[in-house]
Order: sequence, then C-alpha cells, then structure tokens
Amino acid sequence: MSLPTTPVSLPESLPERDHTVVWHPFTQMQTAPLPIPIVRGDGSVLHAADGTTYLDMISSWWVNLHGHAHPAIARRLAEQAHTLEHVIFAGFTHQPAVELAERLLTILPDKQAKVFYSDNGSTAVEVALKMAFQYWYNRNQPRRKVIALTDAYHGDTFGAMAVGGRSAFSAPFAPFLFDVDYLPTPVAGQEEETLALARQLFTSDVAAFIVEPLVQGSGGMIMYEPALLDELFRLAREQGILLIADEVMTGFGRTGKLFASHYLTEKADLMCLSKGLTGGTMALGVTTCTQAIYDAFLSDDRMKTLFHGHSFTANPLACSVALASMDLLLADETQQAIQRISANHSRFAETIAGHPRVSSIRQRGTLLAFDLNVGEQTSYFNHIRDHAYQFLLDRGVLMRPLGNVLYLMPPYCTTDEQLAYVHEQIMALLNSL
Ligand SMILES: *Cc1c(COP(=O)(O)O)cnc(C)c1O
Repeated sequence: MSLPTTPVSLPESLPERDHTVVWHPFTQMQTAPLPIPIVRGDGSVLHAADGTTYLDMISSWWVNLHGHAHPAIARRLAEQAHTLEHVIFAGFTHQPAVELAERLLTILPDKQAKVFYSDNGSTAVEVALKMAFQYWYNRNQPRRKVIALTDAYHGDTFGAMAVGGRSAFSAPFAPFLFDVDYLPTPVAGQEEETLALARQLFTSDVAAFIVEPLVQGSGGMIMYEPALLDELFRLAREQGILLIADEVMTGFGRTGKLFASHYLTEKADLMCLSKGLTGGTMALGVTTCTQAIYDAFLSDDRMKTLFHGHSFTANPLACSVALASMDLLLADETQQAIQRISANHSRFAETIAGHPRVSSIRQRGTLLAFDLNVGEQTSYFNHIRDHAYQFLLDRGVLMRPLGNVLYLMPPYCTTDEQLAYVHEQIMALLNSL
C-alpha cells in the first residue's frame, strides 16, 4: 500500500512573483526577460540573489554618487527616521530642509536665491516651468513660448515631456503636449546653425529657454561646449527670456565640477536638481530660482501665490540623506576620486580611439561616451543596444546603452581596478562586433 502523493507546487521565484504583479518602467513586459533580483549593494557592486555580482557603471540610473548602502548615509537616515520621518511643509518647517537649502545655495551659482522642494527630476522641471510661466503672468506680461533643444530630455510628466525632444517615447501623447520650439543642440559643426536659429526664435514673447547644460543625457550623452551655451544664454537674456538649467543628471560632480553651470559665465535663472541630490538613496527634487523670480510672486493678492506642492515636499528623511551625501561629496577624498575617474576615462578614451567599432568619443568629467560603430543609424531601438547590454551583463558589468551609445557613469567610489575590469569587458565587446 502506498500513500497518496499530494501534488507539490514549487514556490514561485521572486522574479516570477514580480512578473505576476509588477509593471516595470521603460520595459516592454511581453518580451523583457525576468528581472534580476538584487539582494544587496556594496560600493559599486550589486549582489544578485544567485551570488552573481554586477559593477554598477550607470550609478543605478544616474542617481548613485558614493556607492550602494553607504554607512554614513544609512546612519543619517536611521537617525532621522527615529526623530521625525515627515511633517507637512506648509505652515511648518524642520532643520534638515532649512540646512539643505542653505548649503545648496552656497554651492550653486551665486544668482540662485530660493529653494523649492519636490519629489524627483520631472517634478523639479514642472515646478521650474510653472514658476517661469507664472512669473510672466504675475507681472501682467504673459509669455507663452518655450524654447528647448532637440534631443533634450527633461522627464516623463506632461510638462517635462512637452519640453523634451519629441520622440517615439512621447508620440502617444503628442496631441496633449504644449507647443515648444526647438534649437538644434550646438554640437561641433552645428554651432552656427543653432546660433542663427536662436537669433530668430528668441523673441520677447518667449517665457523660458530650458537646457541640460553641456551634456544631454537620455538623448544619447550628447555633449557641447560651454562657450556655445554662454552665447545662447546671452542671446536669450537680451529678450528677457528666463533661463532654466536642468542639472538633474549633470549636478553633483558628474561633469568634473560640482555643477555643469560652473563651466559657464552666464548663469541660469532657475535650476532643477534631483538624482545625485541624495546620493541616490531617496527620491527628492529641488527647483531653485533667483530673487527676482521669487519677488514676482510676493503680493497682497493671493492669486499670485505659487499654487504647487506635493504630499512629501521636503521629506525630512530625504533632506537628511541629501545632507549626508553633500558631506561626502565635498570631502577631499571624493573630489580627488572625481578627478581620478575623469583622468582614467581620458586614458581609456585614448586606448579605444583607433578602434574600428568606435566613433564620436566624448567626455565631460566622469561622463564618458562613444558610439558603437556598426553601420546602423543611432536609435534606441537599434538591436546593437540589446546585444551590448546582454554581453556586458553576462560579464558582470551593468551598462545600459542608449541605442548604439555606450557610456560610463560610475559612482565616485569605483576603483581603478574595477574600471580596468570594465574596460576589458568593453574591449571584448568591441572585438566581438
Ligand atoms: C532623469 C532626468 C530627469 C527626470 O528625472 P526623474 O527623477 O526621472 O523624474 C529630468 N531631467 C534630466 C536632465 C534627467 O536626466
């Protein structure tokens, strides 16, 4: 006699459970492979559940500055969580928000005078646009036009999408986006064209000119020179146009200076920050503006108020973590690491310069990018992207090519040995193409 066997259903794995209930960002859920479960982070290394490790060469979507699970940041977060996790930010304030605003204003370009908190890069851009439009509205000189650069990326909410370069990503929403005029990005060879069109488009009915200074991230790590942006800013200013510097990606040392704006003589009126703001630990956005913009909202008339806010505005946990990250960022050790990584990138750039599969090598500080030259047009949907992503992932390197653009954006704690390993894998990829 044998006992009846009960059918045993194997417990589902975490990726399978994920697939049942989660919808991932920028992911075609029908064809995407199951996501990789990460159980721990340590410096530039991500540890997967099966013991595999990955070198995080894109700083986990451009947010991480000092490495994963940094003890100093974790400590500040825990302390703050035991003290005050959150409080309404209308009618109330708290130490971390005030101190962070004070300290941000000391490291930002001089003209920035006030700090407005929100939750992420897209909201930081939304707030900047609303400040710009309402600035003109409050002064009874309504201006409606916005100028942006082609291939710009400013986020995924509607206002941010509207000022981004129009692409396949925004196509379903095109009818709902407000009109924006675009200038070609002033890359080498295109400068005169951009300046000529700027002279036409910058008129006295333009409210704002928004740019990612010096490096257009999502557009494909497109880089251009400070002198050109200074010239564009001067032309815009002649017409009183408000200048918005979206430093969501370029801020906090990525370009070799604390902000890309520090390469410029002309300074923006509004700045957008997020991503590296908290060292990549918590979601937080900041929009800063000049005194003149702030003053345009001061009135006995309540209708001149900036009616904008989010439930988690100036979340104390996020602000504390941003302060901890700023301590680390300003430390000599980190500033030296930024210079070390920049120099390391320059050497690697020389090494690959002659490779037949490499073109358009470009660098600004800790950002290094080049095109994979496989005789196809640059496009996100280019299959070379999937091949390169998988090839490097299989070798323990997390990079996420933008179409055929391969780039490195390592956390500042990444060692030369780790970079050398990454370089070997990139060489192997290049030689396999
Ligand atoms: C990522 C990014 C944004 C959007 O930030 P989110 O936090 O993803 O909303 C805006 N501007 C630039 C330049 C960015 O790189």
